[in-house]
Amino acid sequence: MRDPRYDILFEPMKIGPVTAKNRFYQVPHCNGGGYRDPSAAAEMRRTKSEGGWGVIFTEQTEMHHSSEITPFIELRLWEDQDIPALAKMAAAMRSHGALAGIQLAYSGINGPNLYTREVPRGPTALPIRTFTNDPVQARAMDKQDIRDLRRWHRNAFKRAKLAGFDLVCLYGAHGFGIIQHFLSTATNQRSDEYGGSLENRSRLMRELIEEGRDAIGDTCGLTLRLSLDEMIGELGFANSEVRDMIEMHADLPDLWDLAHGAWEDCSGPSRFKDEAAQESLVAGIKKLTSRPVVGVGRFTSPDVMVKMIKSGTLDFIGCARPSIADPFLPKKVEEGRIEDIRECIGCNICITGDMTMSISRCTQNPTFMEEWRKGWHPERMQAKGASETVLIVGAGPAGLEAARALGARGYQVALAEAGKELGGRVARECRLPGLSAWGRVRDYRQYQLSQMPNVDIYFDSRLSADEILAFGFENVAIATGATWRRDGVARAHVVPMPADPAMPVYTPDDLMDGKVPNGNVMLFDDDHYYMGGVLAELMARQGAKVTLVTPSAYVSDWTRNTLEQGAIHRRLAELGVEIVLNRIVTRVMSSGVATACAYTGAERDFAADAVVLVTSRLQNDELWNELKERRGEWADNGIRSIKVFGDAEAPGPIAWATYAGHRFARELDEPDIGDALPFRREVTALAAG
Ligand code: ADP
Ligand code: SF4
Repeated sequence: MRDPRYDILFEPMKIGPVTAKNRFYQVPHCNGGGYRDPSAAAEMRRTKSEGGWGVIFTEQTEMHHSSEITPFIELRLWEDQDIPALAKMAAAMRSHGALAGIQLAYSGINGPNLYTREVPRGPTALPIRTFTNDPVQARAMDKQDIRDLRRWHRNAFKRAKLAGFDLVCLYGAHGFGIIQHFLSTATNQRSDEYGGSLENRSRLMRELIEEGRDAIGDTCGLTLRLSLDEMIGELGFANSEVRDMIEMHADLPDLWDLAHGAWEDCSGPSRFKDEAAQESLVAGIKKLTSRPVVGVGRFTSPDVMVKMIKSGTLDFIGCARPSIADPFLPKKVEEGRIEDIRECIGCNICITGDMTMSISRCTQNPTFMEEWRKGWHPERMQAKGASETVLIVGAGPAGLEAARALGARGYQVALAEAGKELGGRVARECRLPGLSAWGRVRDYRQYQLSQMPNVDIYFDSRLSADEILAFGFENVAIATGATWRRDGVARAHVVPMPADPAMPVYTPDDLMDGKVPNGNVMLFDDDHYYMGGVLAELMARQGAKVTLVTPSAYVSDWTRNTLEQGAIHRRLAELGVEIVLNRIVTRVMSSGVATACAYTGAERDFAADAVVLVTSRLQNDELWNELKERRGEWADNGIRSIKVFGDAEAPGPIAWATYAGHRFARELDEPDIGDALPFRREVTALAAG
């Protein structure tokens, strides 16, 4: 059972009139489902309740129609019609004894109102501040607007209570909530009693909290979420002022929920932020208030959590991503199963679900947001079906997850790996600068497999089609991964680009094999995710003079969705990497590369000693293709099924591979559903008339 050194994590604590059963506090986090997929989001939160969290929050909930953040899909509490979906959410959160919290957001200077077409309102008339620089400005709120805002908050509080929530949180963090817009002199340049001094700038916050308390009565707790430092320089709401403000209003909310900076600062990936990265900013704040304090920091280690509480830094351990990667984290600590914790790797793929308005995925937890859609549970698999044995070829993220999940179903599993270690691409990529935490994708599964007597692992086993046909496994899974292309084919070039063989050309696989070019290196990034930027960093650190050329307007363009594009650009610039945007490498020459402007075609040659092409990957599907051609021999050899999945089917991010492996395991021996939709979907009911 539980190690006594973790007992402190299970001590109950009051938040105003309600009591959390332990210190595991799931802070608000988006999921890309929101108002479009309310049942999927509710079931995801129910799973966390089952997993033992003491407090579970919704994502941000737009509390009034005059401030919304379309195209992002969060929750809405605009009118009574919105209550049932939120009531379903609150009931799911409370199902196993967690406190149910709702985060109310009035987005102010962050809400472009693209859907409602209302004129945005802020403390001061300024352009809307969003990721997409929408060409919209907010008008300054007058006294009537402030009275309206206070009334709307009272109404939202009442609706939240009706929906059954135990905690209501006012959002004033990440630049996303109006409370912060009033607190910060960057966005509040008013000269009335709501602007100027800190006391004046915090007046609205005080009014909203005092009136909110009246509205929700004495059965709900009221919390406030702020950023520890706005991180925008002198005019911003900096850490010292945050401390002054907390001292001034020490016991105003029932709990201080302390986030950090903009979302990029708060949810930095492991490549740029360590666990507990906000410790110095939050240290000492507890002394300024008698109210409990929660803070975040991608906490996955129970020892670090204990340290945060014992050192008097935090009362509650706030987790978003760690609760996504492992919804059962608290339960595993409680049951003394620390080794079973599926640690977040800090890749921020979950955030891309929100940023792309799709539905969130998690690299580590392929069941995330599939709890309702597919009925997938993060800890339980259905019992095995009619067949007994499965051979999995390839031990990358796809093969490993398939082996783990099939092992859990009770199949006799053989995992054959050509190399000498588990992990496939993850084992290689986690050796690149900043990506060591990605090794957890392998580590978690390696340990789980080591506990399964029904899974056998074979190394140095590069299997051929003949061998596979001869072995006699009933089911065969091909997860042989992918290989980076050397011919430049991706988006700018759909057929191989012309190349003079005199110029040495490297691929990411070469660099991961330890062949790192030096001298004057030209890197062409037409992949646009992390690899180009990481390899530029690797080479620059080893002394090369690196130029990164990309057809995009941004380095590592897609990492805007993982909230790290700015950090990547900054790091490369600091390392002296020359960044050339909006250019296509058109030809590899013996002495360098020819490039063309992505807009005008204007040409420019660059001298180089070596070229690195980060373009696209080719699926390793020779084995699959040969087996497919020999389909007639399957039955004679006792084979019921052979399937390909993961990068071997179509290369994608690691999260796509763990998902594919998990899906294969879930669907083995299940009835064929034909053309039916493979998940449940919520369809908006048609209004009358
Ligand atoms: P994915 O992301 O789809 O899991 P990876 O490229 O990470 O793909 O992993 C594929 C793994 O498959 C690698 O570890 C590779 O060594 C292994 N592999 C490739 N071909 C074979 C084969 N014919 N037999 C056994 N293992 C193979
Ligand atoms: Fe962590 Fe990545 Fe999962 Fe997000 S997607 S919870 S960052 S492992």
